[in-house]
Amino acid sequence: MTGSPTRLHVDRAACEAHALCVEIAPEIFRLGDDEIATCDENPPAASWPLAESAIGACPRQAISIVDPPATSAPSSERQ
Ligand code: SF4
Repeated sequence: MTGSPTRLHVDRAACEAHALCVEIAPEIFRLGDDEIATCDENPPAASWPLAESAIGACPRQAISIVDPPATSAPSSERQ
């Protein structure tokens, strides 16, 4: 059995290589050759608090937790 059904994701288009995520959680995040962050999408359960700290610290809000697409509902906007 796996621990969490959610995954960690870095939006490469939003990332500006500030590397705060790497400083906070080097076991999860790393900068690639293009200096854009990548991450372990399924870090161990014990590492999730650090992942959440990195999410809060990212100045570009490029890191997110994504759920499996099974129950995703379309967003509705009011006009
Ligand atoms: S802190 Fe955010 S912007 Fe900076 S490297 Fe990490 S994901 Fe990219």
